[in-house]
Amino acid sequence: MNTAAGVIIEVEGEPGQCDRFEKELPYAIPAPGRIETQSVNAVTPLGETDFRIESSVQGERSVTPIPPDVAVCRDCVRELLDPANRRYLYPFTTCTLCGPRFTVVRSFPYDRERTSMADFTMCPDCSREYATPDDRRFHSQTNSCSVCGPRVTLVDPEGNALHGDPIRETIALLKAGQILGIKGIGGFHLACDASNEKAVALLRQRKGRAEKPFAVMVRDLETVKQYCLVNGAEEILLTSAVAPIVLLEAQGKMLAEGVAPLMGTLGVMLPYTPLHHLLFNHPAIRKNDCPEALVMTSGNRSEEPIVRSDDEALDRLSDLVDAFLLHDREIVLRADDSIFRVIAGQPTVFRRSRGLVPGGFSWAAPSSESDARCKSDPSSVVILGAGGDLKNALAVIKGDQVVPGPHVGDLASPVAQDYFKQSVEVLTGYLEAVPGVIAVDPHPEYFSNSLAREAEIPVEEVFHHYAHAVSLLFQERLSGPALFAVFDGTGYGTDGTIWGGEFLIADRSTFSRAGHLELFALPGGEAAIREPVRILAGLLADDGVLPEKFFPLMGECKDRVKFWLEALKKGLNCPMTSSAGRLFDAAAAAVGYTRSVTYEGQAAMWLEGMAAKEEDGEYPVRCTHRGKTLVVDSSALILSVARDMLNATQPGIASARFHNSMARAVVQTVGHLAERTGIRVVGLTGGCFQNKILTERTKALLDANGFHVLLHGTIPPNDGGIAIGQAVAARSRRNGRVS
Ligand code: ZN
Ligand code: ZN
Ligand code: FE
Repeated sequence: MNTAAGVIIEVEGEPGQCDRFEKELPYAIPAPGRIETQSVNAVTPLGETDFRIESSVQGERSVTPIPPDVAVCRDCVRELLDPANRRYLYPFTTCTLCGPRFTVVRSFPYDRERTSMADFTMCPDCSREYATPDDRRFHSQTNSCSVCGPRVTLVDPEGNALHGDPIRETIALLKAGQILGIKGIGGFHLACDASNEKAVALLRQRKGRAEKPFAVMVRDLETVKQYCLVNGAEEILLTSAVAPIVLLEAQGKMLAEGVAPLMGTLGVMLPYTPLHHLLFNHPAIRKNDCPEALVMTSGNRSEEPIVRSDDEALDRLSDLVDAFLLHDREIVLRADDSIFRVIAGQPTVFRRSRGLVPGGFSWAAPSSESDARCKSDPSSVVILGAGGDLKNALAVIKGDQVVPGPHVGDLASPVAQDYFKQSVEVLTGYLEAVPGVIAVDPHPEYFSNSLAREAEIPVEEVFHHYAHAVSLLFQERLSGPALFAVFDGTGYGTDGTIWGGEFLIADRSTFSRAGHLELFALPGGEAAIREPVRILAGLLADDGVLPEKFFPLMGECKDRVKFWLEALKKGLNCPMTSSAGRLFDAAAAAVGYTRSVTYEGQAAMWLEGMAAKEEDGEYPVRCTHRGKTLVVDSSALILSVARDMLNATQPGIASARFHNSMARAVVQTVGHLAERTGIRVVGLTGGCFQNKILTERTKALLDANGFHVLLHGTIPPNDGGIAIGQAVAARSRRNGRVS
């Protein structure tokens, strides 16, 4: 029986048989179905021997009743390409195991009449499938065919229909180097041929996106392997029902250089809708005349949310594209493509969105005894975590469910701020939850902070880096205390300065700052973030003067250095920070990145991309006590990189040594803290731990020193994860004890 709280299964038999049933059940469920939590109760046997499904019952929902969107399944693709099948070339084919879910929901619970599929009445053939218990479309809420279902249309940028078969014409336009706006599952993509240098350059120019890498969709796994190195875990991710973007090491054949300039990695996904499959593998078009790889970047203007409706696309994207491939199934809820990277052998989510939302986590560990207090007290206050201002995503805790919302993005634009407010409504509406508390980042200039306060309900402030730490504790279902290295770009610290290279001792309700990277200056403030060589100059300066020997490291900027340093000496617009992200930027500058960055993390990603993997040398790390606080000498590290480069060391070697030294700095610092506190559990969190080399080397050193290391997996290490940390910390604090 289906209930609002989940499925109830009643079985009768000998104890051994019942045990076997319980053991084998999880493996008998076809993907993407799975058991999130379960509980087993003994009932009195009734002597029943038949199998039946009782009709569903309504009631208080306690688990997520809407499944996430699912990539098209193999059987549906086979039918799509089979001329004898009635769904041959039908671009919206789905079945009970695949298709859109979350993104078509208008209201709850999930049934066809409350989705955007309600606009299409099933034809007799589809109705028959829907009603036939052994059909693979039995009770498939999105069931449709070319007779009764949604249709595609190809229009010009003004919305006028274009002639010809829309999909075949789209393929031809893409092959001819044009840019298409393609409506998908959770929003629009901007697409162009990823092997066409001119088309990619045009897309960059129109979108105003200088160098930030584009994600690509590649025909199939075999083709991905021609362009990238793919290991087992990456292959499983790429071909999973989530079908996310996976960051892979580029190797072999090359796409257009403009796809991911200066990077050693490529963000790759496989086709995940029937429509995508037709674009790459149209059975009526020769293979060479179909694209092999397409840039498929979110259809938005710079950092705004992804565009969802046809009207919005015509309004906001028409000057970016040569044509739109539209369809008439409404996208109700937005969901960007999710992003993963495999780090230390473990899939690590960087962006939790399509295919994952609205899936939640239970407060207690899966399959362990649930937290009695949460179970027995559904009235415990609902908490909304408002997240940060970059990579924003929300999270709600209701009862024993912790539910993150989809990726909202950067809150700088008014469009994004509107989307933030909508997301609050969608998430709380869907959970039938009225937040009693909002947990926010106390950064005084954060929109997420001021927008959350508009709601006029009690606010709990949770500091940025502490929220990162708690998100990881929660992911591991640990109470703490644990030691944390929190390395990221910037976050507001308890002393009002910009933190970002922090060592915390934290449990779920309190923390202390036990150490940090030595503060250094950002000459010119924001300008230093855009031009990392300024940070380098500040770190190498000796009493306000850059020693002449370092001039060769300044590239084209030599003549401007003295102005920066004068300002630094006078303390003009030179905020101090302990940010690990900015220290990586400075190291990148020392190794040769003397140009400007065009997006957050570019210099550090460049530095990671060039690191020589086999190099195991490192620079001396100085870690000193200042009172009870441990301070890692950041300028000594950068000085070592600079000297190494002046000694004609290969950039790749210097880069690897810097990574190794940062790993060493973590091990040394937590070594001291472990001695003092006896804590042997170490969490690595913050956006810098998206760096695979840094994370893997730090983990290896910690492992070798007998620490238990926590790495991010199901919750992002970047700011996309902090809403969960905020909400969990706020709840624990209010409970007045560690839970
Ligand atoms: Zn299917
Ligand atoms: Zn039909
Ligand atoms: Fe952060």
